Amino acid sequence: MSDYSQISVTIEESVATLLHARSAQRNAESQQLLDELDEALTACIGNDDVRVIVIGGEGDHFSAGHDLKEAQEKRAGFTVEQRWDYESRRYYGYALRVFDCPKPTIARVQGACIAGGFMLANMCDLVVASDDAFFADPVTHTLATAAVEVLVHPWVMGLRQAKEFLFTGERLSAADARAMGMVNRVVARDVLNDETMALARRIAAAPPFAISMLKKSLNRSLDVQGFRAALSAHFDLHQLSHVTEEFREKREAGLAKAIDKGKSMR
Ligand code: ZN
Repeated sequence: MSDYSQISVTIEESVATLLHARSAQRNAESQQLLDELDEALTACIGNDDVRVIVIGGEGDHFSAGHDLKEAQEKRAGFTVEQRWDYESRRYYGYALRVFDCPKPTIARVQGACIAGGFMLANMCDLVVASDDAFFADPVTHTLATAAVEVLVHPWVMGLRQAKEFLFTGERLSAADARAMGMVNRVVARDVLNDETMALARRIAAAPPFAISMLKKSLNRSLDVQGFRAALSAHFDLHQLSHVTEEFREKREAGLAKAIDKGKSMR
């Protein structure tokens, strides 16, 4: 496998573990991190030694979401066309590749799992969370966008719960997420890794081709209900929400706040 600088990859007993490795930035997903994750996922798909893929984060958090500082520095001046290219490839495309991965995937979640991090974790087949994990998608409030790029929310938590979660932008605890069926298991933080590995090894013991066909069928049960068409339609509206006056005002207010913060630090 290649050398990665923003993720870590380990393969043990047929289970690959891919971790966000920017714990000082609460595992914010930079362009490079997303590229590395996608590359590692592709390598795992092609590696016969890997039967199950765990996606998680080093340190205290799963991920605080897309790296907004980098976005401001590198992409604030993007045209509609450039943003479309960037987000359709790295946000929408990469997320769907996780959903379509022919091998079972497990999100291992502790601490914050926010916005882009929420989107990624929920493209995985299963979610195991520690009891201190929490989920949030506040970007409609903070950035004035229509949620994140992939509107997986109603499919994993139910429509009414998704509306409350997104309309308020408030945090959802691991226990509440489990009660609504979004999370498979909630375990103590100190056994999160062991419990996730035990589950992964159990799945890895099944015949891999059968599991792969089973996953395809289970995913198709969402596709026949319009899963992919709905996600694709949302992506378009999300792009529209990036070019509104509301979005511009939020961005300028955020920038002014960041400059003020910079001044007070001098
Ligand atoms: Zn976006």
